[in-house]
Amino acid sequence: MITPEMIHLAYLQVRPSGKPWEEVSQDAKAHYEKMAVSLNEQHEETYCSEQEYVGEVLRTCVATGFDERFLLGVMGLAGESGEVVDLAKKSRFQGHSIDTDKVKDELGDVMWYLALLCHTFGFSLEEIRQANVAKMHRRYPNGFEVERSVNR
Ligand SMILES: [Mg+2]
Repeated sequence: MITPEMIHLAYLQVRPSGKPWEEVSQDAKAHYEKMAVSLNEQHEETYCSEQEYVGEVLRTCVATGFDERFLLGVMGLAGESGEVVDLAKKSRFQGHSIDTDKVKDELGDVMWYLALLCHTFGFSLEEIRQANVAKMHRRYPNGFEVERSVNR
């Protein structure tokens, strides 16, 4: 089943006009719905479950034991996040265009270390996502508000 969120995600992958989603015509949205169907079919062919992904992380992890994996995880997470920041720095201050393939690659590296840390602490990525959503709903029930941010 194709959801409105899946159609919106298809749009975000292309975004040819740069228009906000609310201003996209119904004809264009029908096009993005077809894209979402196609992407969903591709997704089913290449889907990697969390269990499979963590298995790949552990297969390629050099650290063993809680202390080593915790240290590798936090250092790697900071380092790979820094690589994403570096792409932003080069774009803002050094005249580089943003290389979306590189951003995607570095976000994958961030995810590798995040998955390692979750596994090391016995959390699932899904559990972390759900807890974060619950926190956002508690903190910002009506979307982000400066008042709630300042007076937490
Ligand atoms: Mg990297």
